Amino acid sequence: EFRMSDAYSFHRSFSELNNFFPRVFRAYERVFRACEVPTVAAEAGVGFMGGERSYEFLTPSSNGDDYVVECPKCGYIANRDVAVAAYPSGSGRPNALERIETPDCKTMDDLAECVGCKRSGLAKTMVFAGSSRLVMAVVRADYDVSLEKLGRLIHEPALQRATDEQLRQAGVVATHAGPFRLHPDTVVVVDQSVIETPNLVCGSNEEGVHFRNANFGRDFDAHYSGDISRIRSSALCRHCGTSMNISRALELGHIFRLGDYYTNRMDLRLRDETGREFYPQMGSYGIGIGRLMAAIVDTHHDADGIIWPVSVAPFLSYLMTIGKSRSVRDTGDAIAEYLEHEVLYDDRDESIGTKFKDYLLLGIPFRIVVSPATMTDDTVEVYDRIASSTHTVDVDTLPEFLAARQREYLDRARESTHAL
Ligand SMILES: [Zn+2]
Repeated sequence: EFRMSDAYSFHRSFSELNNFFPRVFRAYERVFRACEVPTVAAEAGVGFMGGERSYEFLTPSSNGDDYVVECPKCGYIANRDVAVAAYPSGSGRPNALERIETPDCKTMDDLAECVGCKRSGLAKTMVFAGSSRLVMAVVRADYDVSLEKLGRLIHEPALQRATDEQLRQAGVVATHAGPFRLHPDTVVVVDQSVIETPNLVCGSNEEGVHFRNANFGRDFDAHYSGDISRIRSSALCRHCGTSMNISRALELGHIFRLGDYYTNRMDLRLRDETGREFYPQMGSYGIGIGRLMAAIVDTHHDADGIIWPVSVAPFLSYLMTIGKSRSVRDTGDAIAEYLEHEVLYDDRDESIGTKFKDYLLLGIPFRIVVSPATMTDDTVEVYDRIASSTHTVDVDTLPEFLAARQREYLDRARESTHAL
């Protein structure tokens, strides 16, 4: 459903891109502020776009398909897919590895009860099938594997849970799986939570047996290690230790610092004034126009319809006349002519009720009514939909009146600091 406004920039050096990127960032902030949609900018994954780093502009929405993690104290904000938290840690000296019989333990809860410890004292193993290899991910049992983080760490974008058949072929004992006695082709990835916690209870990959006091580095190793666990709602900020909030959001825009990822692959070279050839550094910038429109309507409406902010309203004013009087018509025509493209002149032969209703549905900020009553003192009636206030305005000063209110609303939007 994405209709995008897309932009790309090309630079002679990474530092030039780095100087330009924040200007687009601030321009995007101004765009969303002018549209009067509350947004936050969050660090995001680069996904299939590749490149160095990206930021998403998101609006809080219960219909959103993204989750944003935010620290209320230091302001750290990131998409949940890539958000990092303070590493959990355990303390204590490594004890000697013990073999324990656990024949009836099929689940993590069984195991916790059987060995008498919390889930944070257990290692949880999940096995995935990548493009051509099995991947065993080990996290502490009070965490879940983030497929996004795991895929990114090992450069496998399409991971699926391994089937029973795949496990059997690789010699993995499903109920007692662990990073031991594995087929050499199986890739082991260990989460930071496991690295930081000593003396875990861990599957031995032997039917009915677990190990107690399993310690990373001493008893088992990994091909990859890093942050592969999904952030939890109680997660603490890595920067300041404050408990972070998670909320749903809708992505409206996304800006990428691509670097020379594409220019290299496509062998796009430029030559500068000294004759030096180089791969230009790229930035990519997009706003989802359809989504932005939906988010504006979501924020600005009432029971009667849309109320467009003045910055995006298709017309600033809606004009209608009441009655068949010639002078009313002439005044209406004259106003329509001097307000030009700023006004939608409803000269249909419809009832007043229908026109009032349609005006509300259209969501245009100001409604101007010329009637026999207003003609008696050369005024018009102006209804301000945003403030829901009605004003009597001299026909002569109407343009100034509308311009002043328009400016007031634009200034108010510019100065606002919408935030989650
Ligand atoms: Zn913080």
